Amino acid sequence: MILVTGGAGYIGSHAVLELLLAGHDVLVLDNLCNSSRIALQRVEQLAGRTLHFVKGDIRRRAQLDALFAQYPIEAVLHFAGLKAVGESVRHPLNYYDNNVGGSLTLCQAMADAGVFRLVFSSSATVYGTPATVPINEQAATGLPTNPYGQSKLMVENLLRDLANADPRWSIALLRYFNPIGAHESGLIGEDPCGIPNNLLPYITQVAIGRLEQLNVYGADYPTPDGTGIRDYIHVVDLAKGHLLALEKLRQVKGAHIWNLGTGQGHSVLELIRVFEEITQTRLPYRLAPRREGDIAACWADPTKAERELGWKAERGLTAMIADAWRWQVQNPSGYRVTDRVKESIKRIPASPISGNIQREAVMTRTGTSSANALL
Ligand code: NAD
Ligand code: UDP
Repeated sequence: MILVTGGAGYIGSHAVLELLLAGHDVLVLDNLCNSSRIALQRVEQLAGRTLHFVKGDIRRRAQLDALFAQYPIEAVLHFAGLKAVGESVRHPLNYYDNNVGGSLTLCQAMADAGVFRLVFSSSATVYGTPATVPINEQAATGLPTNPYGQSKLMVENLLRDLANADPRWSIALLRYFNPIGAHESGLIGEDPCGIPNNLLPYITQVAIGRLEQLNVYGADYPTPDGTGIRDYIHVVDLAKGHLLALEKLRQVKGAHIWNLGTGQGHSVLELIRVFEEITQTRLPYRLAPRREGDIAACWADPTKAERELGWKAERGLTAMIADAWRWQVQNPSGYRVTDRVKESIKRIPASPISGNIQREAVMTRTGTSSANALL
């Protein structure tokens, strides 16, 4: 059985689905501070299998000990953490507590339970401002400019020290580039709280009319069209990378870094153009000043992951954007159920139905009591 911390979240839910499809038994531990139980019900529906879910916190040692005692856990995929850069600047203690303190407690509980296989969600943010692109794993880590980035680097260092000190550990430090997109079913996807910070969720929310217009942060970067370049990676490709890392860790000891990116950079204007083509709409946007802390260009050299894990991103930008858009259209309020949808739930007849809002309502209506508690 694989323990997945943060498995109800955006990336975790896609990884849980892949684990179930590959035949693994899965236990999700999530405090639902940034996610919904509904995501896991949809994962079960897509997989045609059930999973174990415990609402709980990686910072609670007694709870972790109880889980390791109760379930035959062989390895851990560790997604749980807080991830909003701006919020981390305002509330650094929360970030160090959740991300660093939580990871430390998790490792202590794993060691005491004799579980030494761990896949950690790191980020390309640990490279800081890259000296050259593409970035390979040999590149020096930078000085993250915010507590979120610091917390990722601190956990990486903690895990490296741990693997150096105790040869029983097998640890993957997966450095994600820019995960976007959603499962092609449109049933699970990214559901940011409040106004999104990231580019694609912002674009899709402008397009459905929840936000007025996109600010393109900086059109004077030293890039071909002046806007920032990133390596966007489809969340399903990313999820699959975790399964291969998990398998690889059966054969190798120590801590190993793998970049998970496509190796292709795309600018903000390019994303807008592809989005407009797919949706056949015009996206309202304006060129705005640079956002503080942003870098001009960042994309991965993913060849180490291909060579060592046999992993390669398969989905291109068009699929990423089309899938994100399908998710947004089918779930205009994400996993939250709006008053409008609640009304439609009351009115849903027993006969077959169609339409996106109704579909969302029915999905929720068939959920378990914890999902209904969210209504
Ligand atoms: P997410 O917020 O959707 O998922 C994180 C999950 O962890 C949520 O379900 C949340 O409820 C849970 N959680 C938070 N603190 C917890 C705690 N103390 N105990 C138990 N559960 C807790 O975020 P995501 O985008 O799926 O990111 C997953 C991981 O990947 C995070 O560690 C994040 O830092 C990392 N990462 C994300 C990105 C990105 O762009 N999304 C990029 C690089 C790295
Ligand atoms: N970006 C933008 N407008 C937004 C959000 C992001 O122009 O509302 C740009 C940002 O400057 C960067 C790119 O889009 O060049 C990706 O930003 P995101 O926040 O998604 O990822 P990160 O900066 O963490 O790589």
